[in-house]
Amino acid sequence: MGESPQGDHGKHRSCNSNRRHGKPKSVRIKNILRVIKQKFGSLTLSGLRKKPTEEVFDLLCSFDGVGKKTAACVLMFSLGRDVFPVDTHIHRICGRLRLAPNCKTPDETFEQMKVLVPKNRAYSFHINLIRFGRKICRSTNPLCGNCPLYDQCLFPEKRDYRMKSSSASASDYDFMLLDKV
Ligand code: SF4
Repeated sequence: MGESPQGDHGKHRSCNSNRRHGKPKSVRIKNILRVIKQKFGSLTLSGLRKKPTEEVFDLLCSFDGVGKKTAACVLMFSLGRDVFPVDTHIHRICGRLRLAPNCKTPDETFEQMKVLVPKNRAYSFHINLIRFGRKICRSTNPLCGNCPLYDQCLFPEKRDYRMKSSSASASDYDFMLLDKV
């Protein structure tokens, strides 16, 4: 992977992903809805559709309780932007495959992956890695023995897990019907 998607993945201000303040999620959601109503006059994000990705990202991150993952998901799923969200599944896989080897948090991996995900591949890569993380490269007991990326993987314990996962049912490979690769 090489092409930098800086157009959509350029530098963003820091996000308040860790700003939780202990408020219940319901309170945070109501606050976000109130701010959206104030800014756009109604409860819709349609006012964001024509704004630049960085501006939308920063706006979303300014909401209490909205972190980089959530902001990137809104951008990718709701607004169709070429932004690659990183959740715990993707953070784990990128670490094991050494795509983002020194990143300790999903937010760090998110920054690292900006320069690695090819342009216009954020959606398909995200969806396929989520499937891969749920089916094969699981958090516990990954099915390394059935992994199509085994030879590329630098996960030190992959040999141990290969011994434990020598067989897989056909459904374990369902995710191989990949989306728009
Ligand atoms: S070999 Fe194992 S740890 Fe490596 S990517 Fe495959 S399932 Fe994940």
